[in-house]
Amino acid sequence: MYDLIIIGSGPAGLSAAVYAKRAGLNMLVIEKNPVSGGQIIDTYEVDNYLGIPGVNGFDLAMKFREHADKLGAEFADGTVTSIKCKEEGTDTKAPVFTVVTDSGEYDTHTILLATGAHHSKLGIPGEEEYIGKGVSYCATCDGAFYKGKVTAVNGGGDVAVEDAIFLARFCEKVYLIHRRDELRATKVLQDELFSLPNVEVIWDSVVREIKGEDKVKALRIENVKKNEESDLNVDGIFVAIGIHPSTDLFASFVNCDEGGYVIAGEDGQTSVPGVFVAGDSRKKRLRQIVTAVADGANAVTSIQDFMVGKEK
Ligand code: NAP
Repeated sequence: MYDLIIIGSGPAGLSAAVYAKRAGLNMLVIEKNPVSGGQIIDTYEVDNYLGIPGVNGFDLAMKFREHADKLGAEFADGTVTSIKCKEEGTDTKAPVFTVVTDSGEYDTHTILLATGAHHSKLGIPGEEEYIGKGVSYCATCDGAFYKGKVTAVNGGGDVAVEDAIFLARFCEKVYLIHRRDELRATKVLQDELFSLPNVEVIWDSVVREIKGEDKVKALRIENVKKNEESDLNVDGIFVAIGIHPSTDLFASFVNCDEGGYVIAGEDGQTSVPGVFVAGDSRKKRLRQIVTAVADGANAVTSIQDFMVGKEK
């Protein structure tokens, strides 16, 4: 029986693991993916994490994991399928939750939801059909397959612009397709993008269909200002239209907002006593590695207070 089960091993979960071990909590991290680190393992370069400018996302994730391992954090592989809330007995140390996974069940006094977020999909014809055959959500993972080819990136945020810059290093041509006439990405990224000779931005346009035979051949694009449709020949498309919180399993268990983000303040306390949230799945303004790491630390502080309250 654990004091704390952390679900998810991205920056929030790993930060929480470090703080929990240092606080002497008997804890377990349950991770779905074989590699810890969450979204950052797909990030080519992280340039805004204090003290380590330009670090590769995968390398940073490995450092986070090594730190947790060094302190003796316990990890288990598994996908959580449900959380059962048990009746609290007369013994105040009795377990109150059972976390059920596809590889085992674990009893715990408290839970930290640190499941992060995943890539949003376009939901257009051809998208599902050509995943892995020209449709990708991760330029750093799949970009190398497109050396000397023509690719498109869809989106106008930091990730889309970073992906376009990354692909431009080895693709013959990169189109950045954005639905408005202004990018959302930070200025420093925009400046770099606009300096690249093999990148062309297609403004005010949405991708309506991904066409191909065995693999992607073209995109059906609509210019929403001119109401004109045309085909753009590409070998691949990288979809970078934002993220969606990975909270579907918990949406009926804790209060979430209309976007699926778990509602909690900086202390991470959700609508269910004993259940906390940290990282990108929490409703908050800024979702960055630094805020995820801070969330993990804050949540463990709240969990310690909660455990002390239980023992009184
Ligand atoms: P994002 O900032 O939410 O940007 C999503 C982009 O996709 C927006 O430009 C949006 O258009 C567009 N979009 C959304 N739905 C669309 C649809 N159905 N069809 C076409 N376009 C659509 O997401 P992100 O770029 O994935 O970044 C996620 C978070 O990570 C952000 O907070 C970002 O700042 C952060 N991040 C930071 C860094 C860094 O600091 N180095 C790097 C990567 C990510 P509109 O602009 O019109 O809404």
